[in-house]
Amino acid sequence: AAPFLDVRDLRVHFPTEDGIVKSVDGVSFTLEKGSTLGIVGESGSGKSVTSLALLGLHKGTRAEVSGEIRLDGRELVSLPEHDMRTLRGRTVSMIFQDPLSALHPYFTVGAQIAEAYRVHHKVSKKEARDRAVEMLKRVGIPQPERRVRDYPHQFSGGMRQRAMIAMALVCDPELLIADEPTTALDVTVQAQILDLIRDLQEEFGSAVVLITHDLGVVADIADDILVMYGGRRIEYGTVHDVLKEPQHPYTWGLLESMPQITGDVERRLNPIAGSPPSLINPPGGCAFHPRCTYKGWVPGGRCAVERPELVSVPGTGRHLAACHLTPETRQEIRVRTAAGA
Ligand code: SF4
Ligand code: MG
Repeated sequence: AAPFLDVRDLRVHFPTEDGIVKSVDGVSFTLEKGSTLGIVGESGSGKSVTSLALLGLHKGTRAEVSGEIRLDGRELVSLPEHDMRTLRGRTVSMIFQDPLSALHPYFTVGAQIAEAYRVHHKVSKKEARDRAVEMLKRVGIPQPERRVRDYPHQFSGGMRQRAMIAMALVCDPELLIADEPTTALDVTVQAQILDLIRDLQEEFGSAVVLITHDLGVVADIADDILVMYGGRRIEYGTVHDVLKEPQHPYTWGLLESMPQITGDVERRLNPIAGSPPSLINPPGGCAFHPRCTYKGWVPGGRCAVERPELVSVPGTGRHLAACHLTPETRQEIRVRTAAGA
């Protein structure tokens, strides 16, 4: 059977005065119901733009979108905005980084969750309100009958995030997109929210796309990892394969910059030096080469001139990586790194 979500060769290009910004440039992935895909990258890698395309939020903008997004057999890239609107919130739903961008300050939390439900269901106000109370309870908000009447500013940051999750799930969506859902929260609350997303996914059986700059977040919760750089895929596979034998030097860098939690102090070690590539005029060859400390291991200066294809990692099922390093060289680098050389 076809995958539940099947994204093929997705491109999102924005024409600007300075040239065409290729935010997403040929991205493909699949996702099944009940599974989580973590899309990982720095800001500007194209991960958020990919998620906005899944929601059809580029429609009516100047963005040029091509490729295919098939959700349960239905093609979304070419779907008119009117039809997309009936899917948004009901079939596909989103949790944003900042709950205050999704929650209106002048309406009670309960009224907003109830309204999100009534957009797609013909129910009375009373029924919608009961549904809001039930959802607040399911996302772990204490005294939901009372809190349903509160305004967003009366909630703590973590509670607001829970309320936004309640709103995103009120229509039981089949695909949930979470863009940096825990970035604004402190470490303890982050862990609680991730647990909540995982529990709710089990309960609701939806497919989840989790967008993050933090590989540590996806390590715990995702089934598959897609690492993006400059709008392209540079590594893709199961969490197991990618974390056990990461292939791409950029992924190595992300792993080294994973937060080390000691007590409640979060330390970041070795962030990747340099800046993300231009999306208008990306570097030739491998887009990562200006920042890559391993390009010297590839003979002939090839990294600067030839873009590596995304190819299957020998001996794996569907682990893909785009890097010129050979398996032998990678192994040698690993040995030297382990030896502290
Ligand atoms: Fe580094 Fe070359 Fe691999 Fe790119 S292709 S990641 S520059 S070694
Ligand atoms: Mg973003």
